[in-house]
Amino acid sequence: EAVVNRIAAGEVIQRPASALKELLENSLDAGATSISVVVKDGGLKLIQISDNGHGIRSEDLPILCERHTTSKLRQFEDLQNISTLGFRGEALASITFVAHLSVTTMTEGQTHGYKVTYKDGQMEGEPRPCAAVKGTQITVENLFYNVAARRKAFKNPSEEYGRILDVVSRYAVHKIRASFSCKKHGDNRADIHTVASPSHTDAIRAVYGPGVARELISLSVSDDDPSRATFKMQGYISSANYTSKRTVMVLFINDRLVECGTLKKAIEVVYATILPKASKPFIYMSISLPPEHVDVNVHPTKREVSFLNQESLVDSIQQAVEAKLLESNN
Ligand code: ADP
Ligand code: MG
Repeated sequence: EAVVNRIAAGEVIQRPASALKELLENSLDAGATSISVVVKDGGLKLIQISDNGHGIRSEDLPILCERHTTSKLRQFEDLQNISTLGFRGEALASITFVAHLSVTTMTEGQTHGYKVTYKDGQMEGEPRPCAAVKGTQITVENLFYNVAARRKAFKNPSEEYGRILDVVSRYAVHKIRASFSCKKHGDNRADIHTVASPSHTDAIRAVYGPGVARELISLSVSDDDPSRATFKMQGYISSANYTSKRTVMVLFINDRLVECGTLKKAIEVVYATILPKASKPFIYMSISLPPEHVDVNVHPTKREVSFLNQESLVDSIQQAVEAKLLESNN
């Protein structure tokens, strides 16, 4: 059974960045406004995430890492109305099958916190009282220690660290009410550092640099025609003055970090057509759709999203991008 669990876990947690994404979403679900990440060896040795969220009640600690344990899905009907990022109760459990996981947590009004370690879905020993501040710190060590083939597949820790930075960057741009930092273990300087800010452009400047931030055009599209998908898109795209060799697309649908190949392509085509230098765009978009129109039940590692009326939605965003870009090119 252990082997089966390990294989299943490896599907959910495919690489360090997928573990980090799950942990980050848990921190956001816990209402954190400050999230810091420390990484060693591209996350293979260590991923440590500290948040100031609501913490975990001590009575929930014993079963925290059992499969399908979640505090986020009270009733089956909730599936129709998911507002939190996680709802499967699978992430922490999966991590414990392929890594060493420990949790330090304290809830509001407690005088001390608890530290607990987990293995193969189970708590090891008892929670130990410890000094803490309100919030949760989760430490994942030796990822894939028991899956040699998987461990060997990651030859380049700095590439894995890059993927982790990428996830943190995207959330930092979208979740501007929280501050984020990410650094390598032992470094003084953080590679990403944002403060809670009133605007997405501030966050984009902090993460992607002043060059991008200076050239942003704000964009919003909505379609309230009840006979079609009701949607709202707000975001920023780079202007005609911005040049880059690669597209950066930060896309959230209903607050979930996703990818949408068709939408990305559609926007790239506009840039390639209008701009002689064939510059690639920077795009940040936040789309809201009726939850029942989005396929949320996709595999946790599949970021590619699908939704109803995709074609017409992509069309109207494409047209809006084209209009704005032409305007900025004059
Ligand atoms: P899910 O997020 O799908 O519920 P997870 O395995 O990711 O499942 O997490 C299991 C549970 O652990 C969550 O439902 C939540 O109650 C708790 N939890 C995990 N991380 C945190 C955190 N950073 N702060 C507070 N609670 C947390
Ligand atoms: Mg989760």
